[in-house]
Amino acid sequence: MDYRCPVCRANLGKRNLSQTIAPRMEIQCVHCNSVIRLNLHRAETIIVLVNFATIVVLAVFAYWFQSRGLVLVAVGAAIVGASALPLLERTALRTWPRYTSTDPGPDR
Ligand SMILES: [Zn+2]
Repeated sequence: MDYRCPVCRANLGKRNLSQTIAPRMEIQCVHCNSVIRLNLHRAETIIVLVNFATIVVLAVFAYWFQSRGLVLVAVGAAIVGASALPLLERTALRTWPRYTSTDPGPDR
């Protein structure tokens, strides 16, 4: 994953997931104060949604059947889902730019 600012190329580092899936998709670069946009890959969105749906379904079944085993499976699914994203970032999305510029204008 490429975490550099698209304007000044400063490395902004890794943002946590709560910021990534927040509805406010724009952040400000701490180096050049440019407003830049989070650039989500479709695979990331799919993994987050599928993982969330899986955990909800398993939790409902665990509650329904009062099953301790299913609770463990739900926790396992949560752990797998949480580790899938960083794995994806290190492999398939290694060169994917995390941020894109919102200001293509000449005045910068
Ligand atoms: Zn910048």
